Amino acid sequence: MLRTTTNFGFSQALVEAQRCLSCYQAPCTQACPAKVDVPGFIRRFREDNLRGASELIYESCPLGCTCGTACPTSVLCEGACVLTQLGQTPIRIGSLQSFITASSPLEEPPPKQKSQSKVAIIGSGPAGIGCAVQLNRLGVQAEIFERDRQPGGMVTHVIPAHRLPAEPMETDLMRLQNSGIRFHYNQEVNAAKVNQFLNEYDAVFAGIGLGGENQPHQTGMQAAGVYAALEFLQQARSAAFGDGTPPQLGKRVLVVGGGNVALDAAVVAKRLGAEQVLVVYRRSKEEMPGWESEYLEACSLGVEFRWLSVIDEIITNQDQLQAVKISQMRFVSASLGGRRWVEHDSEIPVYTLHCDTLIFALGQTLEEGIQEVMGLQKNAPLLPVNEGSFQTPRPGLFSAGEAVSGGSTIVACMSAGMKAAREIAQYLQSQDTKGGQHG
Ligand SMILES: Cc1cc2nc3c(=O)[nH]c(=O)nc-3n(C[C@H](O)[C@H](O)[C@H](O)COP(=O)(O)OP(=O)(O)OC[C@H]3O[C@@H](n4cnc5c(N)ncnc54)[C@H](O)[C@@H]3O)c2cc1C
Ligand code: SF4
Repeated sequence: MLRTTTNFGFSQALVEAQRCLSCYQAPCTQACPAKVDVPGFIRRFREDNLRGASELIYESCPLGCTCGTACPTSVLCEGACVLTQLGQTPIRIGSLQSFITASSPLEEPPPKQKSQSKVAIIGSGPAGIGCAVQLNRLGVQAEIFERDRQPGGMVTHVIPAHRLPAEPMETDLMRLQNSGIRFHYNQEVNAAKVNQFLNEYDAVFAGIGLGGENQPHQTGMQAAGVYAALEFLQQARSAAFGDGTPPQLGKRVLVVGGGNVALDAAVVAKRLGAEQVLVVYRRSKEEMPGWESEYLEACSLGVEFRWLSVIDEIITNQDQLQAVKISQMRFVSASLGGRRWVEHDSEIPVYTLHCDTLIFALGQTLEEGIQEVMGLQKNAPLLPVNEGSFQTPRPGLFSAGEAVSGGSTIVACMSAGMKAAREIAQYLQSQDTKGGQHG
């Protein structure tokens, strides 16, 4: 999974491409959320048609370079490669894709035919961009409103820089410059704006992601040295690009959680020079939701794991983190939704562990109050949409990406945004037929 656009030269790419068996009904394509025609683009590349290969990738995957670099390929396209069943290593599809798209960056052309309809898109993450590109291809004016000063969502701000440098997203965004899609930055969309958009535009798409985080209700959470994982990763990524200073970690860092974000935080802490990084997880390795590739990367850097462990107390001195109290858990026989249940193991005493930094990575949530901003009911953990139409209970308001699906991948969110765009186009047509007011 560790790839960058620069670590694959032309001859290496060609050798890799020659290994492809050009499978009919290719399982790699089936396993790709964007259904990229993998044998097709590899064939074009082998036939010295670099531009055609790049075109084919971008047709299904407008974030082709970004996805080629950051897709968890071992559980997607490469995981399905038939060469694995033949005892060989799978084709390095992601590396080929990022090499081809970086070597032949193409412009997304403006639509040949334009309708009068226009759609406001909130958020410029993968879902918002996927939706905008597809609407634009269908001739619908797409305008993106992003609260940040840069596009890209988590891709630009949070994913560790060593895994996803800035260039792939820049390559993909450069393509859109003359496409006709309009980007507006520093535009925080509030409830009044959503109402305004619903009046002024023919539809609204919310690609707002999961910017909130679960945090424990413990004393000491405000102390210096205690971080929420997204805040920590964002600061580390900005510093990697010369914007601000990296988090000051000290010698021992504890990361609480067992998902990919926890593993990313642990790897980044190690790379920032922490002497010891410990991941504290309440269950065992077996239950850990983080990808195996991320776990192995963490292990290879010397990250240690304390399984069946929870933080009972945060100890501070003058608002500075000093230590934590950790208690041991044990499995009980009952399982909840297929996962083994745990309880405190009273036979093992609680112990104190000194630490300089404590990072909580307990899962992402919708930002507080965002349902009200969207004019939707507050009680759901994700934005509610009709599965087929991507429309929320509020007529004309659509959504996709992580705000709807929960934790996901760039390619899946982009692809969901594209599917939502096709549904929005149908909705606009049906409104036209009904004599709705467009333009
Ligand atoms: C630490 C970490 C590592 C990851 N690593 C990978 C990886 O290696 N590979 C991979 O495929 N995926 C990875 N992911 C997942 C991937 O980043 C997400 O699946 C994807 O970015 C979600 O896309 P989205 O468009 O739904 O939301 P986001 O990317 O969160 O974008 C939402 C956008 O909406 C904007 N927004 C929100 N509210 C408003 C508002 N009110 N007004 C205006 N704008 C607003 C935000 O500023 C943001 O730009 C990772 C995620 C994290 C957190
Ligand atoms: S978009 Fe991602 S999953 Fe799909 S073929 Fe490319 S690298 Fe594989």
